[in-house]
Amino acid sequence: MDLNIALLKGDGIGPEIVDSTVAVLEKIGKKFGHRFTFTPYLAGGCAIDATGEPLPQETVDGCKASDSVLLGAVGGPKWDTLPGHLRPERALLGMRSALGLYTNIRPAKLYSALKAECLLREDIVAKGVDLVMIRELTGGIYFGERGRRQGAMGEEAYDTECYSEKEVERIARVAFETAKKRSKKVTSIDKANVLESSRLWREVMHRVAAEYPEIECTDMLVDNAAMQLIKNPSQFDVVVTSNMFGDILSDESSQITGSIGLLPSASLGDSKCGMYEPIHGSAPDIAGQNKSNPIATVLSGAMMLRYSFDLEEEARAIEAAVDNVLNAGWRTADILGTSTAAPLSCTEMTEKILEQI
Ligand code: NAD
Repeated sequence: MDLNIALLKGDGIGPEIVDSTVAVLEKIGKKFGHRFTFTPYLAGGCAIDATGEPLPQETVDGCKASDSVLLGAVGGPKWDTLPGHLRPERALLGMRSALGLYTNIRPAKLYSALKAECLLREDIVAKGVDLVMIRELTGGIYFGERGRRQGAMGEEAYDTECYSEKEVERIARVAFETAKKRSKKVTSIDKANVLESSRLWREVMHRVAAEYPEIECTDMLVDNAAMQLIKNPSQFDVVVTSNMFGDILSDESSQITGSIGLLPSASLGDSKCGMYEPIHGSAPDIAGQNKSNPIATVLSGAMMLRYSFDLEEEARAIEAAVDNVLNAGWRTADILGTSTAAPLSCTEMTEKILEQI
């Protein structure tokens, strides 16, 4: 296959983890006979520096014209004081909107090689963790009406959580279809005891669940979910939730699996063109030091092969390479745990993965 991939390297560790993934995809291309053409575009803080805006139109047009998009991460302290509409993170929201990417798929798996590094109690770890978090990505409070105004107690700021039936229904279908291919269990997370938007979320979930009698669907309040993820994570298989709850809970699940540097994600809409990125940010504390873990981004590349290009065998080849590297004991600093061995740099970890393909 001939495929065009837009690269948004972004800021901080973004460029080094995207370069690692490009190297891995090129090796896969050679091995399986595909030609990947990579075109870089500016997004985030680097785009602000070069053009004055976080998401230039050229980037949107380039991504729309490509077969898929690989993103590193955007943001950093340099741009933290800019007004909201000029912050690097606007590039992410803008890309999700422009490509209609309403589904975010975030698998969280505890690798057996990393069980010792898991922060949870041994008996909890022994049961394993292998869940998929499905986060709604273009609705809710991150996209709702916001602003500032004068109130009785001085200046007020507000953000609005708003969901439509259609938005909930389409993400519900993604969750139930995903559950069909896994252990036929969906947990829908909301805050229906307090929020009206969650009550609609729950009503629509139940309506869609009725079309999937073979799937067991359970509701859970988000505060309980945050607790259950620590207490008994093996109870979860497919988890579906709103934009903000998913943002927070997926970071929590990353800590159960060892490091945020391990977890990939896919953002999808109705077309095959998706955006693939690690769930972590630009890690300014280790930027430019070649210390980052490239695995989350490399596995995002595997998700791209699977979801956008239907290249299952090639995706599995990347996942197996990562498994082999971890099983062999190779570690970057974030997954070193109590080991006293010297950690691998980002480029050294990339080399180890490449050797396994
Ligand atoms: P972060 O995810 O960047 O970092 C949190 C911690 O995890 C840091 O200690 C960091 O060193 C570590 N870490 C993250 N990725 C790692 C990797 N691959 N290997 C090793 N260690 C890793 O979160 P933050 O510090 O809250 O945010 C930093 C910047 O990133 C902010 O500007 C934030 O807005 C932005 N951000 C961007 C995205 C995105 O681009 N999708 C997502 C989240 C945060």
